[in-house]
Amino acid sequence: MGAVPGAHAHLRSHTPSSLAALWPDLPLDETLARRILLRVVGEDRDDLAGVRGLSGRLEREIAARSRNRRLEVVDRRASRIDPFVKYLFRAPDGQLFEAVRIPLERPRWSVCVSSQAGCALGCVFCETGRLGLARDLEPWEIVEQVLTVRREGPERPVTGVVFQGQGEPFQNYDNVIRAAEILRHPCGARIGGDRITISTVGVLPMIERYTAEGHPYRLILSLTSALQERRAQLVPLARRHPVAALAAAMRRHAKARGGPVNLAWVMMAGINTGADEARELGRLFAGVKVRLSAIDVNDPTGRFHPPDDAERGRFFSALADNGIGFVRRYSGGADIHAACGTLASRTTGGVAL
Ligand code: SF4
Repeated sequence: MGAVPGAHAHLRSHTPSSLAALWPDLPLDETLARRILLRVVGEDRDDLAGVRGLSGRLEREIAARSRNRRLEVVDRRASRIDPFVKYLFRAPDGQLFEAVRIPLERPRWSVCVSSQAGCALGCVFCETGRLGLARDLEPWEIVEQVLTVRREGPERPVTGVVFQGQGEPFQNYDNVIRAAEILRHPCGARIGGDRITISTVGVLPMIERYTAEGHPYRLILSLTSALQERRAQLVPLARRHPVAALAAAMRRHAKARGGPVNLAWVMMAGINTGADEARELGRLFAGVKVRLSAIDVNDPTGRFHPPDDAERGRFFSALADNGIGFVRRYSGGADIHAACGTLASRTTGGVAL
C-alpha cells in the first residue's frame, strides 16, 4: 500500500481550508475542519471526541493520520528587573528555540515568537545570528509557543503576537503566514490581525509578495541603518537587498495598506545614531508617514553599546527635524537574555519558575 498523503500531519498546523484539502479521500469539509480547529487550538485539546458532526470512524481515521505533538518547556525564567518571562522549548526532534512573554499595560500579554531555530542571516549585533540556522519551525511549533503562554492564566489573555524571536520570519514565509492565520482565526487563538506583527530585516521579494497578498498583519522593517554601506556591515543581507529598494518596497506596502511605514531601529552608540542617518531616513521616506520604533542594543558580548541619554536625545531631535515619527521601545528581560537580539537558547540569570 502506498503512503497516505498527509500522514502524520499535525492538526495545529492547519487552517480549516488547508485541513479540508489535506485528505481528499475523507469526508472532511471546511465546516468540520473549523470545528476541529476550535477543538485543537481554540480549546487547546488533543482529542477529537464529541466534535459535532464527526463520526467515530472519521475520528479514528484522522487520529491514525495525525500526530499532535507538543513542545517540551525546558526552562521558564522570569527576569529580576522587569516582568518579562522567557521560555525555552524543545521540539520532538530535540531542536531548541525560545519565546518571550511581554506584559502589556492592561492585564494582557503579548508573545514574541521564534519562526526558526537559530538564524542564517548573521546580523552582527544579534546573538541568534551567531547560532546559525538549525531549521525552520513548523506552523504548529509557532502556534504552540502562544498556546503555552495562554495556558498560564485565563485572567490575563494573550492579545498580541510579534514574530521577532529567533529567525527571520520571511525566510520561513509559508509557515509563518499559516501560523498567523491559525492564531488570528476565530476558531483558533482569536488574536486580532492588527495585533500580529511580523518583523523582517529585509527579504525584499517576500516583502513584495506579502504586500501583493494583502495580509492584515502589521509589517515592520528592522532597518537599523539607512545608509547602504553601513547597513551592509551590520546586516549582511543588505548586500543582496539594498536600502533604496527596501525603502521603495515599504512605501508601496504602506500605500497599499493605507498606513504608515513601520521601521525598527536598534540603536548602537557611535554607529547609527547620527544626523546622517536621520537625514537619509527623511530623504528615503519623504512624503510618507513613518513610525520608527527605537530600541537600545543588547549585546552581551560587549561589542556594541546603547547610546547615552545625550546621544539618544540628539538622535531623536534629528529624527523629528527630518519628519520621522518615532517611539522609544523597551526591550525587556536583559538579565535572562530575553531582550531583542539576545535569544540564543540559553538558561541563565533571573528566576527559574
Ligand atoms: S536580527 Fe533577526 S535576522 Fe538578524 S541574525 Fe538576529 S534573528 Fe536573524
